[in-house]
Amino acid sequence: MITILIPVYNEAHGISLLLDRLNSALASEKLAKYSFEYLFVNDGSKDETYEVIKKAVESETKSARRISYINLSRNFGKEIAMIAGIDNVKSDAVVIIDADLQDPPELIEDMIELWEQGYQDVYAKRISRKGESFMKKFTSKCYYRVLQKSTSIPIQIDTGDFRLLDRKCLDALRDIRETGRNTKALFSWIGYKKKEITYERDARSVGNSKLNYKQLINLALDGIMSFTIFPLRISFILGFIVSLVSFAWAIFIVAKTLIWSTAGSGYASMITMILFLGGLQLLSIGILGEYIGRIFIETKQRPLYYIEEIHHVQTED
Ligand code: UDP
Ligand code: MG
Repeated sequence: MITILIPVYNEAHGISLLLDRLNSALASEKLAKYSFEYLFVNDGSKDETYEVIKKAVESETKSARRISYINLSRNFGKEIAMIAGIDNVKSDAVVIIDADLQDPPELIEDMIELWEQGYQDVYAKRISRKGESFMKKFTSKCYYRVLQKSTSIPIQIDTGDFRLLDRKCLDALRDIRETGRNTKALFSWIGYKKKEITYERDARSVGNSKLNYKQLINLALDGIMSFTIFPLRISFILGFIVSLVSFAWAIFIVAKTLIWSTAGSGYASMITMILFLGGLQLLSIGILGEYIGRIFIETKQRPLYYIEEIHHVQTED
């Protein structure tokens, strides 16, 4: 049994298209020995997503019942929607896929083949992205590179959440209960036998990206801050360098005054130094603050999400 996990937020217009593509992709003969479950995690959609899913469930014939869904109590974001799904599957493997058909369902067959060969985390790496702005591609590229440079754990570059996860990976992900989740980083962190397949990322089938720039920047910052303490180290190193340089500079000024008795003048250089140091200090305090804020949020130990309604094909039968 393999679960196709689909986090959805305001995707009412894309779902039937997605189901068609999935159905035909999974109808392949090689996959006949598996039974599939589509698990929609409705992440507090404000449009008709819920009704569309419900309709799809109702129109299923009894013999081919395969759609499950989880209705979250509000919009928690894709990261939380994914763990809500993972928490509630009992299958042998899960394939996480976006609802907007940017991840081609046809790849699932290849993923399963690699899974049969013993790989536990088969992820899809995009070699091109259609229909996305230059800025988005560029910022995403920078982000992955920075994340990689700031940690010793190998990060899968240009890889999204589209992947097949074995039961062992699912158990590992279930163990991690941090609120500030960056699932991409977690996939790397848990380890296990990974294998990549490459694909060309399509443009969205319908609608716009549900993630705006603010969310993307937050996600990126979260990713780095919740994954490494590298920024703290940068502020430490900067502080160290600045103190060294200022010490040398101070000795130079004292010597200059003693030897040539030229009293230092220079309001301009002074104010520059003060502002520069003030800026550095504020930056360091800001970085500290980011981490303290994270500690604050994590110490509350709130549940990650609340489920309003859950419908399972397995338990219904
Ligand atoms: N999504 C979600 N909750 C959110 C935002 C997005 O479950 O708060 C889902 C969305 O419905 C889609 C997937 O996450 O299935 C990826 O979202 P999107 O296509 O907007 O992101 P992008 O492809 O631009 O990174
Ligand atoms: Mg998308």
